[in-house]
Amino acid sequence: MQNLKAFKELISSPKKVVITTHHKPDADALGSSLALAGYLKKLNHQVQVITPSDYPRFLTWMHGNSEVLVYEGGGEEKAARFIEDAELIFCLDFSSLGRIFGMAPLVQAAKAPKVLIDHHLEPEDFAQFKLWDISAAATAELVFDLIVMLGDKDKIDIPIAEAIYAGILTDTGSFRHPSTTRKVHMIIADLIEIGANASRIQKLIYDNNTETRLRFLGYALSEKLVVLREYNTAYITITAEELVRFKYNTGDTEGFVNYALSIEGIVMGAVFIDRSDSVKISFRSVGEFSVNEFARKYFEGGGHKNAAGGKSNLSLDETIQKFVSVLPEYKDQLTQKI
Ligand code: 5GP
Ligand code: MN
Repeated sequence: MQNLKAFKELISSPKKVVITTHHKPDADALGSSLALAGYLKKLNHQVQVITPSDYPRFLTWMHGNSEVLVYEGGGEEKAARFIEDAELIFCLDFSSLGRIFGMAPLVQAAKAPKVLIDHHLEPEDFAQFKLWDISAAATAELVFDLIVMLGDKDKIDIPIAEAIYAGILTDTGSFRHPSTTRKVHMIIADLIEIGANASRIQKLIYDNNTETRLRFLGYALSEKLVVLREYNTAYITITAEELVRFKYNTGDTEGFVNYALSIEGIVMGAVFIDRSDSVKISFRSVGEFSVNEFARKYFEGGGHKNAAGGKSNLSLDETIQKFVSVLPEYKDQLTQKI
C-alpha cells in the first residue's frame, strides 16, 4: 500500500467500518472479509460485513458468518444505512464496482474513504487506499500481508487464521495453480502454527455435498459436457429447467468448470448457466491463453488470466453459438503446445 502511513493513522482510532465483497462470494471473498473483520474488531472498530448476495452453504462455518448482512433479498435498507454512516469502507476481492451489483451506487456515493484489497486484473479507480497485487494467490493472502505490515501478526487468532486459510485454499485450487508460491506455503505454515485445522476446513469446503448436488455434477459430466478438440475447449451448459430439477442452491455448480478443464489437452473450460436474468459464465484456462481478455472482449466480464467470469443477455443457445463462433479467432493460441 503506497500511503500506508495515512492508512495506519486512519485505523488508529475506532471507526464505523463496512467490509464488502463481490456478488455470490466464494471462499476467498467471504474468508478475506471475515478475517479482516475479526482483526479490525480487535482494534475496537465497529465492523459490518455486507455481501451483495447470498453465498454457498459450505462457507457458513466461518467465524462471524451469523453477523453477515446480505444485501439482496431483504437487507437492502439496513445495508444502505450502514454504507451511508460508514467512516471507512473496505472493498475486498473485486476491483470493478459492477461486481457488487445493486450496492455499487451506494458505495460510490458514500462519503467514507474506500480501501481496495484485491488481486484481479485491471482495477477501476474508486478507492483512496489500495492493496492491490495480481501476483497474490488470494485476497486472503493480502489480508494476511496487511495485518503483518501493520505489525499485528500476533492478533491473528484461530478463527482469523481459518478464514484466511479457506481463501488461499480455494483460490489456489487446493495449492495447484501457479500462484501457489513458496510465500503461500510459508503463510499456510504460519496459519497452521496459529492453530488453523487444515484438514477440517478442507472437509467442510469440499466434502459437504448434498446428494442432489453430487448427482447434478454426475449428470452434467455425462450428459452436458461438450468437447471441441479442434479448439482444445470443453464446456458444460446448464438450463433453467435443470437448475430446478436438481434443486439448485447457491454454490452447487461451483467447481463444474474445473472438470471441463481437467480433460487432457484441454486449454479452455467453460460453464454456461441459464439464470433468470442472464446467462452466467465461468471460464478457466491453462497456460498463456487469457480468459480475462476473452471474457472482457465478448462476455462483459473479466477476472484473472486463468480464471474469469462473464455474462450474456442472449438465450443460452445463442450464447453458445456466439462462444463457438469466436473460437476460430483464438485457434492458434488454443492449440499452442503448453
Ligand atoms: P467464477 O467463475 O468462479 O465465478 O469467477 C472466476 C473469477 O472471475 C473470480 O475471480 C471472479 O471474481 C471473476 N469474475 C466472475 N464473474 C465476473 C464478472 O462478471 N466480471 C468480472 N470482472 N469478473 C468476474
Ligand atoms: Mn480471490
